[in-house]
Amino acid sequence: MSDDCLFCNIIAGDVPADKVYEDEHLLAFRDINPAAPTHILVIPKKHLASVMDADAADRELMGRLLLAANAIAAEQGLDEGFRYVINTGDLGGQTVFHLHLHIIGGRRLSWPPG
Ligand code: 5GP
Ligand code: ZN
Repeated sequence: MSDDCLFCNIIAGDVPADKVYEDEHLLAFRDINPAAPTHILVIPKKHLASVMDADAADRELMGRLLLAANAIAAEQGLDEGFRYVINTGDLGGQTVFHLHLHIIGGRRLSWPPG
C-alpha cells in the first residue's frame, strides 16, 4: 500500500470504482475514461509502480494477472477480439504508477497505436 497512490486507494476502498472482479491478489475495475465500449483495468493488490518493478518473487502474481484478465475478457463477451495494454513509464504513456493491465475491446481497434 502506497498512501499517495490512486490505485492503492481504490484497493483500500477510499476511492470508489466500478469493480468487475476481486480476489485476494487482484482487483479489476472499469476505466473512468473508457477508450472503447469495454475498458477494464486489472491490477495487483501489491503496489508495483510499473511492470518493470516485478521480479522473480512476482512470477506467480504476474501469471495470476494475465489469467484473471483472460477470464474477465471471456466473461465480458470479448470473444471476437480485444487488446491488452501495459503502458510503461513516461514515454510509454503511463499516468498512474501502480501496475495495471488495460483490457480494451468492444469495437474494432486500429494498429499501430499512437
Ligand atoms: P495509464 O495511462 O497509466 O496506462 O492508465 C491509467 C488509466 O487510469 C487511464 O486510462 C485513466 O482513464 C484511468 N484512471 C485515472 N484515474 C482513474 C480513477 O480515479 N478511476 C478509474 N476507474 N480509472 C482512472
Ligand atoms: Zn499503488
